[in-house]
Amino acid sequence: MTRLDAYNRPISYLRVSVTDRCNLRCVYCMPPQGVPRRPHEEILRYEEIEVIVRVAARLGISKVRLTGGEPLARLGLVELVRMIARIPGIDDLAMTTNGTLLARYARELAAAGLQRVNISLDTLRPERFQLITRRGRLEDVLAGMEAAHRAGLHPVKINTVVMRGLNDDEIVELARKTVDDGWHVRFIELMPLVNGDTMYAQWQERVVTAREIRQSIEAALGALEPATLDAGNGPARYYRLPGARGTVGFITPLSEHFCYGCNRMRLTADGHLRPCLLSDYEIDLRTPLRSGAGAAAIEALLLRAIDSKPQSHHLAELLVPERRVMSEIGG
Ligand code: SAM
Ligand code: SF4
Repeated sequence: MTRLDAYNRPISYLRVSVTDRCNLRCVYCMPPQGVPRRPHEEILRYEEIEVIVRVAARLGISKVRLTGGEPLARLGLVELVRMIARIPGIDDLAMTTNGTLLARYARELAAAGLQRVNISLDTLRPERFQLITRRGRLEDVLAGMEAAHRAGLHPVKINTVVMRGLNDDEIVELARKTVDDGWHVRFIELMPLVNGDTMYAQWQERVVTAREIRQSIEAALGALEPATLDAGNGPARYYRLPGARGTVGFITPLSEHFCYGCNRMRLTADGHLRPCLLSDYEIDLRTPLRSGAGAAAIEALLLRAIDSKPQSHHLAELLVPERRVMSEIGG
């Protein structure tokens, strides 16, 4: 049975960061030089992740999302997908990826039991893509998207972080993709995360609220009607443009709290449970796991983490996590 936290929210969703490494260096997520590499032995082994997910499933977690860093940058990820897909109680297994390696793995991932992917894509312009990711190639992501569709990893959702002066002039073009090509595009408000980069210092001038994004879309393409895309209660709100097969979504960590409906826990690549993305409080699972703790002890730690989920974040007061960058937590 799904557990309730102290604020009566059912906790049914675990995001698992499988690596803190990434083949890109997106300006809002990582400093240009990347993050200091954690030694290999600090990262959870796949068998350890499996143990934790099994215990979580017994506590009513039914949905798992693999994230990172870039999950596909970790060797043998298909095997982890296979391991998690066969855990009783896990009925929804998804991944968030930058898409650059997806063309290579989409079919294998689907065959191993992955159900869906979210792909991060902030621009449709090749040079700008390089500027934002500092090293990626747009064509790889587009090929990854195509492969995900062919492999049946539906619905493929696109995550777009909007930044004033960097890609806000593409909002309408991206939204039009929901009409012309049936894309599902989710616009995400830029979060002021400390990442050793300029994006944090410039946050106030770079952030574009969902309200503004929505106004630009409606002025150019018509009224957005409420729509549904997820069966679950994710943080996105969905809408549809006239005649569109795809949907426009908004993820609004800043302008509208979604904390009241938060159903998730996070597991960092180095084995810490994080009850809230935007709070540095964590519970170490790796040390007990490696000192021989059994399932009952891990279950008690998971329950403690569920009980300690805060009621909401404090972004409005600019209280942001400082101990980890986004790529270590997994978004
Ligand atoms: N590498 C994968 C990817 O890019 O999809 C998974 C990890 S990434 C940290 C997960 C999500 O966090 C991405 O969709 C990314 O756009 C988002 N993200 C990272 N930093 C952010 C920030 N400062 N504000 C808003 N979203 C952010
Ligand atoms: Fe890597 Fe994803 Fe962060 Fe970009 S957003 S640097 S792809 S982890």
